[in-house]
Amino acid sequence: MDNLSNQILTSKRPFVIAGPCSVETEEQTHTIVKQLANEGKVQLIRAGIWKPRTRPDSFEGIGEKGLPWLKEACNQENLPFAVEVANTKHAEIALKEGANVLWIGARTTVNPFAVQEIADALKGVKIPVMIKNPVNPDLNLWIGAFERLQHAGITDLVAIHRGFSVYKHEVYRNVPNWEIPIALKQELSSIPIICDPSHIAGRTDLLLEVSQKAMDLNYAGLMIETHPNPEQAWSDAKQQITAKGLSELLDSLILRTRQSDTFTTKELESYRQKVAELDTAMFELMSERMKISEAIGEFKKENNITILQEEHWKNLLESRLKFANELQLSSEFVRSILDAIHLESITRQINVMNHSK
Ligand code: PEP
Ligand code: MN
Repeated sequence: MDNLSNQILTSKRPFVIAGPCSVETEEQTHTIVKQLANEGKVQLIRAGIWKPRTRPDSFEGIGEKGLPWLKEACNQENLPFAVEVANTKHAEIALKEGANVLWIGARTTVNPFAVQEIADALKGVKIPVMIKNPVNPDLNLWIGAFERLQHAGITDLVAIHRGFSVYKHEVYRNVPNWEIPIALKQELSSIPIICDPSHIAGRTDLLLEVSQKAMDLNYAGLMIETHPNPEQAWSDAKQQITAKGLSELLDSLILRTRQSDTFTTKELESYRQKVAELDTAMFELMSERMKISEAIGEFKKENNITILQEEHWKNLLESRLKFANELQLSSEFVRSILDAIHLESITRQINVMNHSK
């Protein structure tokens, strides 16, 4: 496939990648590819051939024999297809069988040795590679995977944001941590980002909400798992939708413009000015706050008192959270700010106590 990243960046948003979590049978593969082609909204088919599953008793993919089914189904509809590769062998077979695009899954991106092996296997090959975020929320590990491929001469790269693992989250299968893909975009500005709402949500009723958010954050496209008969899927049954369901979802998206016109820009500017003033005031207060922390540090040093006073911290948290709630600030938000302030304050006090002037 010729320059996927460029195609994604220049095509109308969202660039749509869809297909089943896994290739299961020849018939299932042909059916879903045909259905997606008939809906006419998909630019690239995705399908898992080798499935890295968390538990060994799950379906681990149909393997190599599924590739000709996928290739034929896609050729018939004139659509390119992408498969996941987790090691050198997968990469070699996928290339031999004519995959147009490869992707590195979340459980592979965590492992620099595995990523390096794949990068080495692809040296000198001209193929687009999509890299999913690692399962753990580590921006550098994600960036490192891009660098390994770039050093091997693979320049047609795309990022896929599929969320991060947590233990028993009440809403998401994988928490989005939107700030991480946003930071990736800042570091690697030429690489398009695709959102995979299927693995973030883990359930169909949240797909639209997550997809809409991705569009509002200027993502270039979406990767959505689709199956002819989702309830019967051999993997990820709870999160797959039909080709019709995908069309409905895409039709429901509100696509806002990236650039505002002169009038809205002016309005926005006045809000931004206000925000800048408030940020300045906040930082001035923080600076004052930290100077007092240092004075407390001096006092504790002179009087031989330990830095952490648990009871005091507990009471302070309680009263501040209560006050913040009265101001309609969420406890979660205020708690994270207070934790950051507390940590900085402790660091300053340690510096004061352990360094003589
Ligand atoms: C998949 O796309 O089906 C898959 C296994 O995804 P992830 O690597 O994001 O878990
Ligand atoms: Mn899946």
